[in-house]
Amino acid sequence: MPPPQSYPPELTAAESEQLLSTIKDWSIAHGLAVRPPLSLVSAETDPHGVLATTAPVTLFPSPFPRVCFEQAKSIQRAYNHLYALIAQDEEFLRDIVQEILEVDEFIAELWQVHLKVKEEGYVQSLSLGLFRSDYMVHQATNDEPPVIKQVEFNTIASSFGGLSSQTSNLHRHLCLADYGLLENPLSTKELDLPENESTKSLASGIRAAYNTYTQLEPIHNCCVIFLVQDPERNIFDQRYLEFELQRNESPIPVFRLPFAKVLSQTTIANTPRRQLLYHPPSNASKIFEVAVVYLRAGYGPQDYPDSTAWQARLQIERSNAIKCPTILTQLAGAKKVQQVLATPTSSSEPSILTRFLKNSTDEVDNLSKTFTNIYPLDDSPAGLEARKLAVDPERCKGYVLKPQREGGGNNIYRTAIPPFLNSLPETHWKSYILMEIIMPPPVRNLILRNGVIENGGVICELGIYGTCLWDQTSREVLHNEEAGYLLRTKGDKSEEGGVAAGFGSMDSCRLI
Ligand code: ADP
Ligand code: MG
Repeated sequence: MPPPQSYPPELTAAESEQLLSTIKDWSIAHGLAVRPPLSLVSAETDPHGVLATTAPVTLFPSPFPRVCFEQAKSIQRAYNHLYALIAQDEEFLRDIVQEILEVDEFIAELWQVHLKVKEEGYVQSLSLGLFRSDYMVHQATNDEPPVIKQVEFNTIASSFGGLSSQTSNLHRHLCLADYGLLENPLSTKELDLPENESTKSLASGIRAAYNTYTQLEPIHNCCVIFLVQDPERNIFDQRYLEFELQRNESPIPVFRLPFAKVLSQTTIANTPRRQLLYHPPSNASKIFEVAVVYLRAGYGPQDYPDSTAWQARLQIERSNAIKCPTILTQLAGAKKVQQVLATPTSSSEPSILTRFLKNSTDEVDNLSKTFTNIYPLDDSPAGLEARKLAVDPERCKGYVLKPQREGGGNNIYRTAIPPFLNSLPETHWKSYILMEIIMPPPVRNLILRNGVIENGGVICELGIYGTCLWDQTSREVLHNEEAGYLLRTKGDKSEEGGVAAGFGSMDSCRLI
């Protein structure tokens, strides 16, 4: 038997060069791409914004424990259902929001929008979630099997579903044995590379909502709106989803609407149903009724520079369009919610999950197993204990501090926590959560970023997508699916993992 090959394989300079030129071209040819960062291509060099560059990507699929992959996929539908139920539990969310309102203006504004619509009365009871649950592998000792621990649950703008399917395709292409790219080829027969249909599956979620809406007597031709940031570097990821919706035998009209243009390009029909009407700027005679608004913007304060941006969000929320997500669903994804679910109230009391999943002890067990220790920093007994932990110069090294924000770059890690907290009034601490750092077993890989290959230890983060369409009033679930995966990989010296934020890279799983 030949000796087991090291993985990833040692590359000669010639092999490295060959791989590099293949990835560069395959990525552009298949849209595994982003608009270049200004640090790479200045606005002067590309005044019309026509250039694209390869998305950062690993050269090989990273080894990932099959048991963990299966575990994460098998619980996604339960997670979808749990978050749909949380979004339906206004009282639960109100109690959480109330605690952080006074120190977190952004959360306070979101809640205000919800209250305004509630006072007027919601007209649309259907709600769509395109979720992503993120995990890292945890292995307590070498003798114990690896398990997954949840990093966070995303309920708004869960990205990379489009690029992720393409990354799986790239790795499959590179690992094909028969055309002599590498001297000792890897074989897809030896490598277990799971299928990844994230683009198609996420599009099916939007399609399910669109089809349901159009059955309910629209007054105009219907469309889907992608509510976006402008400019957007991660545009091809979004375009993939859009093109998938338009490609089918019954194509759906999809329009990209910059968040800042909501009030100039949409109106609300003067009817009891308050249909959201889209007026395409390229065709003044045409009106579309918006069936679904898919938000890839609006998740953070940067999209709300002034009060008109909040009016725009209110316009969307009070309309009859199916929102992906509603304000309540967005708030269900707050890190504070994740902490409340994970922090045991007392050993004698049942898990808070039983409030939502009343008759399903299996689901409660399976979901609880993915929680790692997360603590509040409020005045509760658990919070007061955690405050001591957080400011201790030694013990803080095992933790990450998180505010109620999305999109990367907001967390405070390890020894930076005590000075950060000490710079804040103590009354503000309660808007943060303290989470144990998950340390996955070491993995090696090579990352191609901006044309340069980095080689070394890496940390992988698995995301499982889920789609769910439910009725807020009747609680009926009309659609609930697991929707493919994302593997993001970063150098093991980096704390943050976001690809768009410039820290991580796209990857795919080689199951082991
Ligand atoms: P965001 O909403 O900004 O994406 P996350 O909670 O996902 O916030 O944190 C950003 C990144 O920080 C993650 O992708 C991961 O790389 C790292 N991270 C967050 N929490 C942990 C943790 N408990 N253990 C290890 N790494 C973490
Ligand atoms: Mg994240």
